[in-house]
Amino acid sequence: ASDFSKRALAVHPSATLAASKKAKQMAADGIDVINLGVGEPDFATPDAIAAGAKAAIEAGKTSFYTPVGGILPLRQAIVDRTKELTGQVISPNQVTVTTGAKMALYALMQSILNPGDQVVMAEPYWVSYAEQVRLAEGKLVTVRPAAADMKLTVADLDQVDGPVKLVVFNNPTNPTGQVYSKAEVQSILDWAKEHDSFIIADEIYGQLVYNGAEFTSAMSLQQVADSKLIIVDGVSKSYSMTGWRLGWVIADEQVIAQMNKLLGHMTSNPAAVSQYAALTALTGSQDPVEQMRQKFEERLNATYANLQAIPGLSVPVKPEGAFYLFFKVDDEVLQRLGLANTVEFATALLEDAHVSIPAGEGFGMPGYLRLSYAKNQAELDEALKRIQSFVTKA
Ligand code: PLP
Repeated sequence: ASDFSKRALAVHPSATLAASKKAKQMAADGIDVINLGVGEPDFATPDAIAAGAKAAIEAGKTSFYTPVGGILPLRQAIVDRTKELTGQVISPNQVTVTTGAKMALYALMQSILNPGDQVVMAEPYWVSYAEQVRLAEGKLVTVRPAAADMKLTVADLDQVDGPVKLVVFNNPTNPTGQVYSKAEVQSILDWAKEHDSFIIADEIYGQLVYNGAEFTSAMSLQQVADSKLIIVDGVSKSYSMTGWRLGWVIADEQVIAQMNKLLGHMTSNPAAVSQYAALTALTGSQDPVEQMRQKFEERLNATYANLQAIPGLSVPVKPEGAFYLFFKVDDEVLQRLGLANTVEFATALLEDAHVSIPAGEGFGMPGYLRLSYAKNQAELDEALKRIQSFVTKA
């Protein structure tokens, strides 16, 4: 028998972090690698936010544990932003702040799931959802949306047999970049309510929508109080703050109380300095968010066109949000290159063309790869050239 827990052994390493690690190693060895693997904006954290963090350090606000769920001013700032963005009035007791949205999701699954509880999500899904369900010993049920745009519908959810404890609903979606309309969000919420299921709306890309697309927060349609709707959000993506590790949950007070009990033994609290940085981000000028959004929009439009122009590669539907292009590799290309699947494609692309892009297999959808365009345009252009010559070589 192994010395290690079944739980640990059952988990797959993060495919995106693994690809990224290999690319970083190659770069350290002096190889000119372009890493389009990880969902990490290439911008520096805006100066004003960094200044807020420095001021907190200088004022000595970092030598104590904060409340488990985060400092009150930050929870109040989340309350205020929520009112601005969704019209909903919530209380700080309906908010808990975590070390990134990833920890928010982990603590939620640990708080909600019993062994065998069914958790439903659409394929392709963000890699960590599936592993976090395994860690909580839930039963992962993935559904392949029937629609060409890969968006989850009520008809897809109706295919699931048996009680559903939790629906994980990501909007805008990683990896496909789809944005659900108000009516579509409403229908998923209605389904969850009818089936008495918890629903996690992961809205971490909510501020990153492009070309006139409109984001509808689930919270603008349903209150969290006395309901099973849970919102997950954070500063990583929209404020270019991935390294600060700061996210949050908005939910009914009872959900928050259970989470805080667990978090009190898991993290105690997110880093105080990061909380003050996030406070500055949420209460200061929102111009940097819009400036970065515009840059992402330009990159999406350029990179989408360049990718579509490569014979044998295609993006099923143009993304409207997040910062990924989930593209399909024709079987003809794989056969010509002597590759069995897209995992082999990703490996060969990294080794031969020095471009790191994780394969769709980790997202529950073989045949695809996920490119992150949160990189500068020059790097994206060079990467696309390399991909083109890799794909078209005889
Ligand atoms: N949710 C989705 C869909 C993501 O893509 C990510 C990051 O890649 C996260 C949550 C976690 O973000 P963080 O832990 O940096 O807040």
